[in-house]
Amino acid sequence: MKTRANEMITLKGTAASPGVAIGHASIFYDEEQYSIPKYKINATEIKKEITRFNTSLVKTKLELRNLRKKLYSMVRDSKLDFFKMHLMVLDDPFLKDNVLLEITENNKNAEWALYEIMEKYIKSLNLIKDEYLSERSADLYDLAKRIMNNLLKKRRSSLKVIHPDSIIIANDLTPADTADIDKSRVIGFATNLGGKTSHTAIVARALAIPAVVGLENITAQIKDNDQIIVDGNNGVVVINPNETTLKEYKTAQSIFIRYSEDLKKLTLLDAVTLDNKKFILAGNIEIREEIDSVISHGGHGIGLFRTEFLYLNRPALPTENELFTTFREAVEKTNPYPVVFRTLDVGGDKIGGSIKMSSEQNPFLGYRAIRFCLENPDIFNAQLRAILRASHYGNACLMIPMISSVDEIKKVKEILESQKKHLKSKGEKFKEEIKLGSMIEIPSAAVTIDIIAKEVDFVSIGTNDLVQYTLAVDRNNNKISYLYEPFHPAVIRLIKQVVEVCHRHKIKVHVCGELASDPMAALVFSGMGIDELSMSAIAIPEIKKLIRSVHYSEVNLMAGVLKMETALEIKNAIHQFIVEKTPEYVYKKVV
Ligand code: PEP
Ligand code: MG
Repeated sequence: MKTRANEMITLKGTAASPGVAIGHASIFYDEEQYSIPKYKINATEIKKEITRFNTSLVKTKLELRNLRKKLYSMVRDSKLDFFKMHLMVLDDPFLKDNVLLEITENNKNAEWALYEIMEKYIKSLNLIKDEYLSERSADLYDLAKRIMNNLLKKRRSSLKVIHPDSIIIANDLTPADTADIDKSRVIGFATNLGGKTSHTAIVARALAIPAVVGLENITAQIKDNDQIIVDGNNGVVVINPNETTLKEYKTAQSIFIRYSEDLKKLTLLDAVTLDNKKFILAGNIEIREEIDSVISHGGHGIGLFRTEFLYLNRPALPTENELFTTFREAVEKTNPYPVVFRTLDVGGDKIGGSIKMSSEQNPFLGYRAIRFCLENPDIFNAQLRAILRASHYGNACLMIPMISSVDEIKKVKEILESQKKHLKSKGEKFKEEIKLGSMIEIPSAAVTIDIIAKEVDFVSIGTNDLVQYTLAVDRNNNKISYLYEPFHPAVIRLIKQVVEVCHRHKIKVHVCGELASDPMAALVFSGMGIDELSMSAIAIPEIKKLIRSVHYSEVNLMAGVLKMETALEIKNAIHQFIVEKTPEYVYKKVV
């Protein structure tokens, strides 16, 4: 149902790119509905079908290269190579060989053969329950559509013809759609689909255009040219705002613009409080391509390299040498700052690809991470050797996920020693004193931190899991997401206990869960004296600004929240502090 004239509607989605945009709706309709021709061909037609298929591949490649150039000219950032995956798949013999096989062996026409193989590809990627990888299946879908268009000689609709101050409204946008936009006219995005790692979100952040995604059915509630506000800070969209709302958002917009200009000046500065207490801000990454972004956002190292992503999107296990090459590149790029390589954390929702696992009733409480590694020495040992070898080329640290008791740490240390011996016998170089850390994400590890602290060089608190295990709330279940409360007194007390005990044992404490990028949580953590906060690259400048705006002596007093009885009391106390000390944070609402 579309809006009636001037009816104000407020929608809530996912905040994908910060800022406030006030403009007019430009609805993008992706009207490509295929009916894919499927018919059998005879032996004499095979050659012609192969030629048609090969020609469509060549055309698609050309098209993608042009789009890549265009995007680069707009964003001027070679890291944002959204078409890399498309081009890699196009060059992958798997695709071509299998389609040709369907044509020659099963006598299918080219469109049918392509459809079958791409479906298989996409389905296998969708089996992996990971937000990043399922977004990549959207790339494959886009690629399949492009090749199919070229086979069917169709053209895609374009985002080019739009009025100034346009806010693009769409079901979803592909990288190609966004590469086609006219940046002088598009000031915001709002889409039905997509999450924080969707391409609309990534491109919007790269172009510094406010965006809200995952709005479910905005396309059904808006008309072309309706006035619209996109609040990318809070994930809110307002259609046909009234005078008061418009005024409120204009103020929020100018506060945000001033604030972003300020953040840009901080890249080269330290995260140090007004009274000289220094904190380390580092980046979390899943793939090595993200390292540049951590560095350009002013991160001092990689606090969490989720190495499992090297195993999840491929049919065969990576070899020790492949892993070594990736790890070496990571430490060389990040030097002199450290890279914390977290060993394989498969299981839970990270399943599929080269690691075969049977289904379980409670995967998050099951065969996951270190539990899997200790049972699969070939896979674990190869990874340990690759990390050890990379340590010769830079500042590498090792970290073990899902530790529930000190016994697991002791077993890992024995294995690590045996792998060091193995490398020595082969004359391989590595750093003998490589630092070993434990993730603290299971309450039993937090409660026995005094025992674990004696065995490791540092710990890193994984708040994503610590919250879910402490509160018995599945981190991926929307139905109970209101119970997933990081500021629950139980969580805050556990973290405080970990910090105090580790510091007594003179070892450093990091936080590498999403919470590190939440300004309110970052304030409490710095008040507790946590040494390092590791987060997604884009969040680093904001947290740095926050730390540089406060006195440690004052933030430290916030540890008083420990005495409070409810999450709401805790959040209100932190918010009050933020409002008093750092007025620029007021633009973010507390919920
Ligand atoms: C965590 O649990 O906070 C963490 C960083 O690990 P992951 O999100 O990969 O489970
Ligand atoms: Mg975890």
